[in-house]
Amino acid sequence: MTISINGNIPNGSIEVVSAVNSSDIKLSLRKDQGTDFFGYYHFRASGVRGVPCTFRIVNAGESAVNRLAGRDDYENAWTNTGPLVSYDRKWWFRVPGRLVGPDYVFEHTPEYDSCYYATWAPYPLERELELLGRCQMSPRMMLSTIGHTVEGADLDMLTIGKPGDGKRVCWIIARQHPSETMGGFFVEGFLERMLDPHDPVVLDLLDRAVFHVVPNMNPDGSRRGNTRANAAGANLNREWVSPGLERSPEVFHVRALMEKTGVDFAMDCHGDEELRCNFLGGPLEIPSRSERLKSLFNAFERSWAAASPEYELGHPYPGGSPAEADLTMAWNWIAERFDCLSILLEQPFKDTSWREDPVQGWSPERALRFGTTLPTAVNNVLDQLR
Ligand SMILES: [Zn+2]
Repeated sequence: MTISINGNIPNGSIEVVSAVNSSDIKLSLRKDQGTDFFGYYHFRASGVRGVPCTFRIVNAGESAVNRLAGRDDYENAWTNTGPLVSYDRKWWFRVPGRLVGPDYVFEHTPEYDSCYYATWAPYPLERELELLGRCQMSPRMMLSTIGHTVEGADLDMLTIGKPGDGKRVCWIIARQHPSETMGGFFVEGFLERMLDPHDPVVLDLLDRAVFHVVPNMNPDGSRRGNTRANAAGANLNREWVSPGLERSPEVFHVRALMEKTGVDFAMDCHGDEELRCNFLGGPLEIPSRSERLKSLFNAFERSWAAASPEYELGHPYPGGSPAEADLTMAWNWIAERFDCLSILLEQPFKDTSWREDPVQGWSPERALRFGTTLPTAVNNVLDQLR
């Protein structure tokens, strides 16, 4: 039987250079349309039961050079980590991979006929729609389509609790960068907990706050299996100063709603390919930075560390503080505009160093459970937000 490699699956992305010889499958990472962003892969291998396969991603090294500033002391995205692998698209495990010159190489002998490989587990559209459906049936949640993407997909927002005088307004957004799917699982965990009618922390929180949640800021990019961009080639997390309806309608609509509701607390959920921890960025370098925001951020960090060992103190945003925040990024723009506690969350692609999981690394299961701890962390600082 001949083997077949295909990136033409939901949320898929890969280019096949050569798949004639199972011991030398050559693949290439695809760039997001009209951009130089690349790094994410997700593909299906078929006809591979019992076949020893060697996969070689020939341009991975090129993408490893594309790094954020101040990261020279950290290992790059491809070092000491392996792809997530699944037969049923639900349970994802790791196999080891390594950089050999410009190539990223991994070997695997699948136990079944077809097998999926990905930088990190995809968050399927079907799962997203089922989650939204489950949430809208809760008496405490309301689902709104707040606009449309470049390609006309619905942009959905859940509102939890009833807005009211004196209530704090909290926003949670995720997946501006479509490859950072751990943000989707994290938000799912958060929502699952917020659905619980008997959870005392949630009840206490909703007495005093209302939440607006956008689980997927970039549905087009997600569907295409993009690394960072939307369908117009925009990096949405650089569009917050002047979003446009043609280039970045996703940000345009969310920003317009934030102007209507105001914001007292915000979290923007991302993933980091290099570090081995969950870490946060705070409103520390915005032009109107203040002692108030700094101590709020510190209080939130302590609150989350007390709520979950998955959030460890002592992992500041790497590379040191920039002199001035980049306001084109969501968390900085929100903090500056609303003078509020606005936070960037980065979950690892690889694993955490405090507790290594040799089978899965950082996994959808862990991201989801981490999300369930956010209500406690927010509840403890809610009364200090204003
Ligand atoms: Zn990101």
